[in-house]
Amino acid sequence: MEECLFCKIIAGEIPATKVYEDADVLAFLDISQVTKGHTLLVPKTHSRNLLALSASESAALWAKVPALANQLIKNLSADGLNILQNNETAAGQSVFHTHIHLIPRYAGDGNVFEKLDADTNLAKIAAQITGGAE
Ligand code: 5GP
Ligand code: ZN
Repeated sequence: MEECLFCKIIAGEIPATKVYEDADVLAFLDISQVTKGHTLLVPKTHSRNLLALSASESAALWAKVPALANQLIKNLSADGLNILQNNETAAGQSVFHTHIHLIPRYAGDGNVFEKLDADTNLAKIAAQITGGAE
């Protein structure tokens, strides 16, 4: 998938701030941070969106969500977390490679879905999530 942005990120052709990676999935910070730690989880194998996945492909992807969500909450001292998953343009999908948004929530942070954007230092946030160096 030469023209797919997330395939290019997976291949290392475009930089991204990674927070988790294994043989099957990659998680990296969304370039537009809705809240601090807003993360995208993507399967390494290209697919257009969730509608194109088999049950087992979907299960393998969603199986990664609880640990990553808990890591985000714990290391960012978040109070909760929203999961958002858009399929097709009508539903807000803008990058056509399957992805799950994990959006940490902080008590009193307001309606973040209307107020898109917290300008932040992605490397610093990733280091906080992973416990690594900035
Ligand atoms: P969608 O709207 O398709 O559900 O979500 C796509 C997300 O990808 C958006 O939230 C957008 O901010 C994010 N995004 C778009 N281009 C890039 C990029 O080059 N790098 C990163 N890290 N995120 C991106
Ligand atoms: Zn792709």
